[in-house]
Amino acid sequence: MRDVKSIPVRLSWLAARQLKVWLWCEGCSHHKTLPVAPLVEKFGDAVLIELKSHFRCAACGGRDVFIRPDWHSAGWTRGVVSRHEKLPD
Ligand SMILES: [Zn+2]
Repeated sequence: MRDVKSIPVRLSWLAARQLKVWLWCEGCSHHKTLPVAPLVEKFGDAVLIELKSHFRCAACGGRDVFIRPDWHSAGWTRGVVSRHEKLPD
């Protein structure tokens, strides 16, 4: 049960890195990004994934929402996006 790599991401951690929150609906693939500041005001320094239950999809109303830091638009993934290489025949 010990996994030092899965330290929960907190809102303060995101705010310090100017990362946004990225939400994706498992039901209909609707997605959007949210700024962190209003979330900190509302929930305090909460653990990001624990906020999951507070969100609902604006498109389909589904509650099966996936939440994670918005690495991509922050440029964190630039250059390290995994390449999809073809397997040899
Ligand atoms: Zn949806």
